[in-house]
Amino acid sequence: MTTPVAVHSGPYAGSTLHLPTRHEKERVLAPLCAARLGATLVVVADLDTDALGTFTREIPRPSDQLETARRKAMLALERTGGQLGLGSEGAFGPGPYGLATWNVELLVFIDRTRSIEVIGTASGPGLHVHGLVRERSELDLLIARAGFPDHGVVVRPDGPSDPRITKGIRSRAALDEAFDAARRSSSSGAVFVENDLRAHMHPSRMAMIERAGIDLFDRLARCCPACGSPGFGRVGSIPGLPCSSCGMPTNEPAADVDGCVRCGHRVETRRPTDVGADPSRCPYCNP
Ligand SMILES: [Zn+2]
Ligand SMILES: [Zn+2]
Repeated sequence: MTTPVAVHSGPYAGSTLHLPTRHEKERVLAPLCAARLGATLVVVADLDTDALGTFTREIPRPSDQLETARRKAMLALERTGGQLGLGSEGAFGPGPYGLATWNVELLVFIDRTRSIEVIGTASGPGLHVHGLVRERSELDLLIARAGFPDHGVVVRPDGPSDPRITKGIRSRAALDEAFDAARRSSSSGAVFVENDLRAHMHPSRMAMIERAGIDLFDRLARCCPACGSPGFGRVGSIPGLPCSSCGMPTNEPAADVDGCVRCGHRVETRRPTDVGADPSRCPYCNP
């Protein structure tokens, strides 16, 4: 990643954003915020966002990912009395094309002064290995796939919803101790082990949060050509790029669409057609 020179102008230069996190997300977001907006990111440390749901299933998620991120941003504003709030929420689920695990990171930014909400996103293959193990040899295979010890793991007896949980394990000694204890207290002799999905325990997730931050801060640095509001960026695409072989329209994007979060102004940018879509994407050449 290239680091842009410090920003001393722009809509958010010199301002303060409030981020509630207990999982060190500021490690990646604060430098980006400074470099791309010239703004300061302040952690709202005493806010317990776990009340909005956790990755480790003790507290079920009350609402979807976007709504949870939005509520975190709102809580930050209520607590601090500030004007700019940022909420972060991640999810791991089944991926497209049959990929096992997909990580989606959302950042919701709320500007109370301008009454706008801007969303930054990033997604890609994610690391969420989990399984029931009984023997040390099975444990070793699982943690190797889980990226341990760079990635932390969570251990509990019997199954994924057992409340007797040991989180944040990142050393072999701590793992052995937690594994033995869980096996002793297990009714089945099995121990459930999985990646600890909290950002500070999961460097690949932290990297995805950084990508979502780049998306968000780039949107905040762009202003709408119609109304001047910050938060102008890509909102979609229009299909129809001609096939490079037969010239018929395909579902590949023919144009990108940028939009404004405040006034709804849209700008279409046609993609160059001199190369065209790959015939493997063409419903006529490759039905
Ligand atoms: Zn074709
Ligand atoms: Zn606008």
